[in-house]
Amino acid sequence: MNRQVTLNLHPTRRTLLAAAVIGLLGAALPVWAQTPSTPTDPAVTVPPVPRLADLGTTRRLEVLPLVEWGTSNSALRGEPGVSYLVRTDRSTILLDVGANMQSSDPSPLQANMKTLGVDLAEVDTVLITHNHMDHVGGLANARARTFALGMQPVDLAGKRVIVPVAMTYPGLAATVADQPLALAPGVASTGAIHTTIAMGPVDEQALAVRVQGRGVVLIVGCGHQGVPNLLARAAQMFGEPVEAVIGGLHYPIPSGRWMMNGVDTQRWATYGSGPGPTPEDVQRDIDRLRAAGVQWVSLSPHDSSDEMIELFRRNFGAGYHDLRLGETQVLTGP
Ligand SMILES: [Zn+2]
Ligand SMILES: [Zn+2]
Repeated sequence: MNRQVTLNLHPTRRTLLAAAVIGLLGAALPVWAQTPSTPTDPAVTVPPVPRLADLGTTRRLEVLPLVEWGTSNSALRGEPGVSYLVRTDRSTILLDVGANMQSSDPSPLQANMKTLGVDLAEVDTVLITHNHMDHVGGLANARARTFALGMQPVDLAGKRVIVPVAMTYPGLAATVADQPLALAPGVASTGAIHTTIAMGPVDEQALAVRVQGRGVVLIVGCGHQGVPNLLARAAQMFGEPVEAVIGGLHYPIPSGRWMMNGVDTQRWATYGSGPGPTPEDVQRDIDRLRAAGVQWVSLSPHDSSDEMIELFRRNFGAGYHDLRLGETQVLTGP
């Protein structure tokens, strides 16, 4: 906020006085309130939503990547897709179902769940961040506006399914989170945030988890919403600091993970033939995250390059945590 106001000022006495007053006000504000990702940030496009009341907190948050690009465990199958098991005090959520790029049976998700000893019975909620093939179990599912854990039907009876746009799943009714939605104590969907990339419009939701004694943790799929919108939505919903960001923020810079017929698919799908963002643009997002109070970042390698991961690591130091298939991240209060 301060940075923008200062840039817009003309060097007259009155505006210098205004700048001094705003500067003093800014100094008195908590760090998170000074984030550039307020509605005054021109990069923010997300419409306002009411504050989410009485969400409560969770004492413990665990995020276990079941599908991701990178792993140090050769018994697990990596791919450029996302599926995370999110465990809180009162809820276990399966966020996305991977890509199943090879249409294999069992899918990487199913094989990795078995290897890691994860039983679908413990999952009470399946949340699909957005309808892209690397999150819904393959291109055929994305085209059919559905999702699948594997090649054979999987019964999800009794589980809650939260989707960002109208999508179907055999035998149950999915709930469309087009607005923020409380899911469990301390756990909510941000609601779908609408953006447009080269391949078309995207509506993507993220998970927001309030960890007792810490702050809000955002768990993100591809991150098409963009950092300014994610931070702005978290501020709208909670008005309190964002402690951590875990998951995809979509920085295939200089190149993405997935070449198809010589085409860098992640870049092409997002930026078309345009140049796309630069490392300087990514640094601006990092600055926004830091200004919002973010202490902990785990960037998904499924849609960000090694170069951009290193840029985050340099900026966040010990606050940077590698997001690897099969390795649980644990956030608890002090
Ligand atoms: Zn993705
Ligand atoms: Zn995507």
